[in-house]
Amino acid sequence: MAVLQSMTPIKTTERDVLLRVDGVSRVYGRGERSFTAVENINLSVHVGEFVALLGPSGCGKSTLLRMITGLIAPTQGSIYYRNQPVRGVNPYSTMVFQSFALYPWLTVLDNVALALEARGVPRDQREEKAIHLIDMVGLDGFERAYPRELSGGMRQKVGIARALAIEPELLCLDEPFSALDVLSAEALRGEVMELWQGGKLPIKAILMVSHNIEEAISMADRVVVMGKEPGHIAAEYVVNIPHPRNRKTPGFESLIDRIYAAIAGHPTADPATMKTKQGELPTRILPQASVEAMAGLLEFLNMGQNRRDIYKLDDELGLEMETLVEIIEMCEMLGFVKVTSGDVELTTLGQIFAEATILTRKEIFANRARRLPMMQWIMEMLRATPDGVLPWRVFYTALKPDLPDEMATRQIDIAIDWGRYAELIDYDDRDEALKLEEHRAGVGA
Ligand code: ADP
Ligand code: MG
Repeated sequence: MAVLQSMTPIKTTERDVLLRVDGVSRVYGRGERSFTAVENINLSVHVGEFVALLGPSGCGKSTLLRMITGLIAPTQGSIYYRNQPVRGVNPYSTMVFQSFALYPWLTVLDNVALALEARGVPRDQREEKAIHLIDMVGLDGFERAYPRELSGGMRQKVGIARALAIEPELLCLDEPFSALDVLSAEALRGEVMELWQGGKLPIKAILMVSHNIEEAISMADRVVVMGKEPGHIAAEYVVNIPHPRNRKTPGFESLIDRIYAAIAGHPTADPATMKTKQGELPTRILPQASVEAMAGLLEFLNMGQNRRDIYKLDDELGLEMETLVEIIEMCEMLGFVKVTSGDVELTTLGQIFAEATILTRKEIFANRARRLPMMQWIMEMLRATPDGVLPWRVFYTALKPDLPDEMATRQIDIAIDWGRYAELIDYDDRDEALKLEEHRAGVGA
């Protein structure tokens, strides 16, 4: 079924382009503490389009939206709205946040009317317009209620009504449903789609940030997948499934798989490859997952069907998708699983590990872990010293030019965690130093 065309160019004329993000990067902070949140983003949104931005937390989705709405400026590149460069707040766009800050001392009506006032709507027209907007988002009868009397979903609707009050052409939604319970979120998604497709709004396009793949596919015409470190656009998918979309259809499911493959299969293949100038540093960073979590996943896979759909696993295991992705990456890196088009499959080695005794597990793990560039690099550095000991600082200083601060620290922590289990390296809290296990064993003998 041809529901998906990866990287299909959308057939539109220049005239249809509402928003154009052109080679945009954003760096936070300055000098040594500076941090690149997104790098070289190119993206267009056309009239009539609903685009979803999907990606793990920290990949710069909110940063990108903030630049698009003009709340912050790009460090590099430009943003054009209807071919005009955006300078300062873009008056044609508006943003709905995850949890909308309503004024608790104002009624629903006054909260919306206030936005109209800010837009310069005359006093005598505000009430009527506000009532109309409240009606549109399905809150009629609640005009005189206070925010505290409303459920989360209803409050979010007030937020949407308030955003609509400025009659934006480009509606930007930043994870608008993620603070809601499952049912309210589902209901509100339906209402947003109705509003959008009903065509009664002045809205020309919607740009929605999400970290929920199903949500993105069920609503958007195009899903733009972002990766991190630094934030970048990794892939784009056109969703050619007619509305209302049914998650159970093969087209929907296969698209979920394709997108998961893009995120989980090798999301980090590229970004996780550190740019090494001298070729001295390890080339692939370690995913943030523990040996316990890894063993747990391998055991789970070994118990049931050997091959599992990644996107169903998070619920089954009660894990956050992001956490699961890291664990899978760890398993894959060590050769315990294979990831293909949204599925994860136990390898023979993975199965052996899952069924092995504690000691054998340690041995298998050590054998694989010692081949990882990061572990090799650490062990080589330690071997080069007379006593196999080096202060933590040394590794940190070496990694820092290539990684943001916290990531350098995290990488060492992960290496220590894995290294301890594998009995390859150890860490001494008192002198904050890493030690080579083989060396210590040698000396002791
Ligand atoms: P997302 O919305 O995808 O979770 P964000 O755009 O919020 O990502 O953040 C991207 C990265 O930029 C994160 O690592 C975050 O810590 C960093 N960041 C966001 N805002 C700031 C800021 N004002 N100052 C410094 N770093 C920031
Ligand atoms: Mg965000």
